[in-house]
Amino acid sequence: MPVIGSLVPASLAVAAPAKRDYFKELGVGTFINAAGTYTTLTASLMRPEVVAAIEYASKSFVRLTELHDAVGKRIAELVECEAAMVSSGAAAALTCGTAACVAGKNQEFIRRLPDIEGMKNEVIVQKTHRYGYDHAVRNVGIKFVEVDGAAELERAINPKTAMMLYFNAADKTPVPAEQFIAIAKKHGIPTMNDAAADTPPTGVLKELTKLGFDLVVFSGGKGIRGPQSAGLLLGRKDLIEAARLNCSPYSDSVGRGLKVNKEELLGMMIAVETFVKRDAEAEGREWDRRCKQIMDSVNSVKGVNTEVKTPVISNRVPHIHITWDQSKVKISPKEVVKALREGTPSIEVTPSPADRVIVAVWMLQQGEAEVVAKRIREVLKSAA
Ligand SMILES: *Cc1c(COP(=O)(O)O)cnc(C)c1O
Repeated sequence: MPVIGSLVPASLAVAAPAKRDYFKELGVGTFINAAGTYTTLTASLMRPEVVAAIEYASKSFVRLTELHDAVGKRIAELVECEAAMVSSGAAAALTCGTAACVAGKNQEFIRRLPDIEGMKNEVIVQKTHRYGYDHAVRNVGIKFVEVDGAAELERAINPKTAMMLYFNAADKTPVPAEQFIAIAKKHGIPTMNDAAADTPPTGVLKELTKLGFDLVVFSGGKGIRGPQSAGLLLGRKDLIEAARLNCSPYSDSVGRGLKVNKEELLGMMIAVETFVKRDAEAEGREWDRRCKQIMDSVNSVKGVNTEVKTPVISNRVPHIHITWDQSKVKISPKEVVKALREGTPSIEVTPSPADRVIVAVWMLQQGEAEVVAKRIREVLKSAA
């Protein structure tokens, strides 16, 4: 038997993954993430278990739909819903979920989208629930019908209604979730809730389908810390099956560009598994420790105040709000953000309003809270 390796010409042999510093080679700067899970800042870092699963998946061929089925089944068990699919992000889940409500499993309809002629083409949404990501719903060719209040919502339902969209983190919700679902059920209209950024806490993954939403959307690469190009669509079995048919790998579908391969599938499954099993209390204690460290350091500059605020629905994790008397500390929040970004190491903070600097501690890595504490203090002190 010849040794296989000897048959491979040296020029084709794949170099062992050397200890190359790719970002440095490219001149692309890395930074300390005191901002949070922003897509343009590459959001979250995958847990080691997720990276290991991706590496594992990268080494074998599998039949993609078989893996999709198996991973969906496992995720549905983990979060206690009827069915689940891994999408290429929450926005992709919005598109596939909408397509499921519009075209269902009808092959002719699936091929024709976003030409929606002859299909149900209206999605009802509360006026206060319109937002940038609803473009992903409009991609299917639907028209939004905006309503204000329960009476208007019920009047808007007609034979053209394909779905009712709900934005979980909306500032104002005239028709709350329970009532929204009750009206939809009364008229047999499927509902979809976008809760993309609403984990942690863990329970949200289970609660929204249990509450009665037919479809629920989550980002994979935000708080769950799965692959950044993955998301979850959870809910009713018939709708998840239809969503799958309206998506990659099926070539002639509106979701063909929203591909997930075996690496994201397995990575996302392990992300959900580790997320639901993680020690949330210990994690919370560590975040509190980081907050205290940064606040103690920053508060030592005269005229500076800090306060911890935890948003109620999205990004439900502690954020430090830093304010100061600009007649004493003569630097604007915008200038502080710039100084942190341009310093060494570079630090990104949460996109902040004009009157303060906001720091999120949950994406910091070991040892970074110390650096952030020191740098913010230095910048403010230099202007005091
Ligand atoms: C982040 C976000 C999305 C998009 O999530 P991706 O996983 O990046 O596609 C959609 N909706 C809301 C409310 C979000 O916060």
